[in-house]
Amino acid sequence: MSDAAPTVEGSEIALDADWNAAYIDGEWRRLEGRERIDVTNPSTGEVITQVPAASRDDVDEAFAAAKEAQVEWENTPLEERASVVRTVAKLLEEYEDEVREILAAEGGSAKSKQDIEWGGSVSFGYDAAQYAYRADGRHAQSQIPGKENIVERKPVGVVGVISPWNVPLKLSFRAVAPAIATGNSVVLKPAEDTSISGGLLLARLFEEAGLPDGVLNVVPGEGATAGDQAASHPDCDVMAFTGSTRAGRIVGKNVVDHFGFPALELGGNNPHVVLEDADLDAAVEAGTFGSFWNQGQVCISINRHIVHESVYDEYAERLAERAAELKVGNPVDDDDVVVGPIINESQRDQMMEYVEETVEAGGEVLTGGEADGLFVEPTVITNVTNDMAAACNEHFGPIVPVIPFSDDEEAVEIANDTEYGLAGSVHSGDLGRARDVSDQIDVGMMHVNDQPVNVEPHMPFGGMKESGIGRYNGEYIIDEFTEVKWTSVQREDRGYPF
Ligand code: NAD
Repeated sequence: MSDAAPTVEGSEIALDADWNAAYIDGEWRRLEGRERIDVTNPSTGEVITQVPAASRDDVDEAFAAAKEAQVEWENTPLEERASVVRTVAKLLEEYEDEVREILAAEGGSAKSKQDIEWGGSVSFGYDAAQYAYRADGRHAQSQIPGKENIVERKPVGVVGVISPWNVPLKLSFRAVAPAIATGNSVVLKPAEDTSISGGLLLARLFEEAGLPDGVLNVVPGEGATAGDQAASHPDCDVMAFTGSTRAGRIVGKNVVDHFGFPALELGGNNPHVVLEDADLDAAVEAGTFGSFWNQGQVCISINRHIVHESVYDEYAERLAERAAELKVGNPVDDDDVVVGPIINESQRDQMMEYVEETVEAGGEVLTGGEADGLFVEPTVITNVTNDMAAACNEHFGPIVPVIPFSDDEEAVEIANDTEYGLAGSVHSGDLGRARDVSDQIDVGMMHVNDQPVNVEPHMPFGGMKESGIGRYNGEYIIDEFTEVKWTSVQREDRGYPF
């Protein structure tokens, strides 16, 4: 090891702790001589700290440590494995204030976002701990007399995890916790903008929970180098990647190239369909939450509002009223803020470009439409068609394009007219009709009389089409992080034909 462990004043789990290191083989390594990545508070532009940008060699070291540690970890009694993950959930509860501060300062998370990201991570941790007990197999009869068939589930080995910046703690933990509970080791590469909440924080929590050295390794770094190396590494047995479809396509090819398994959770363009018999109050409230939670920076947030022409004007006006009253600002120390900052300039520029292009194409801004620094006004645009920029792209912002339709068939056609297939919602006073529409929308997750931002630890999370491959949570993620092995035992003379 080239470097000393970071010196930390007071609690190691705090925004102002020393985070300028990678965590490899149970050691905090400075990675001297590597480039540094600024961790910035998007509300103020203040640089909170720097973290090292791990090199390809650093990633290789992380995989070597993970591979070595995995064998013993796989053979560690189930309760010990479960207990480590459960302890991390308990520590998350214990460090609630510190974790919330990190989420607010590093990720620009408003209180409502912290509630779900922190709270969801706690409940998920308790659930995932039990996966240690649930990775079981089966026993089956055979066609052949005297033969016994046994199907076992074994951990895949080393799980690579690459996560995005938008819900960093939860999206890293949803892969790391099940992987560790089921006897795998992990190499985690968090997003550049959120190296603490998406990675180093988890390293500290698992370290405090007593996880053996090498079972979890965290390498902050750039996607094109550290991320690329992780996905391409021959010892990466499963790559649990969450991020854009653009990067996911590259990552998927790299993983498959060495016959690793790609678990890809990618982008979305999620429709919120409002039929003419919907309860408009409920549809508007759901639409407001589903569009503006975390500034719309969510893979499952509403990207398009698809509204029946007979209630179109009223819906759009009411949604614009709700949007205009949401408090925008710095969420650190202000629990009333609903819409915090956009994570960085390039994300903001991209979404503002989509708004501009949509207006040029004939869209009308009912409210919002401007940005002040990284704060983008909650924006509602009417007169939108599905081919306009804010509708056909994943805008990932506090932006509501409202598209009219005339019958259920057209609503389904518009909803499905996208390369993505992640999530969606439909509102109707007639649940049977809503189910019929829901059934025809090609996404992995549909929500009737709600909005698409839903996650539960035991429900399958994932998408169709270009939104990815595979499912997270419960038995679905256990399947992805374990490999099936068939063993047969011939207990009596088989009587071969020659
Ligand atoms: P991104 O693809 O730019 O980055 C995600 C991660 O991939 C980062 O850690 C990044 O460093 C890494 N990365 C980038 N290029 C890479 C490469 N060539 N090889 C390996 N790693 C690479 O995405 P983002 O901007 O951080 O996140 C936003 C996107 O993530 C949106 O498209 C959103 O829909 C998607 N997302 C999907 C889910 C889901 O569960 N389906 C959840 C959250 C976000």
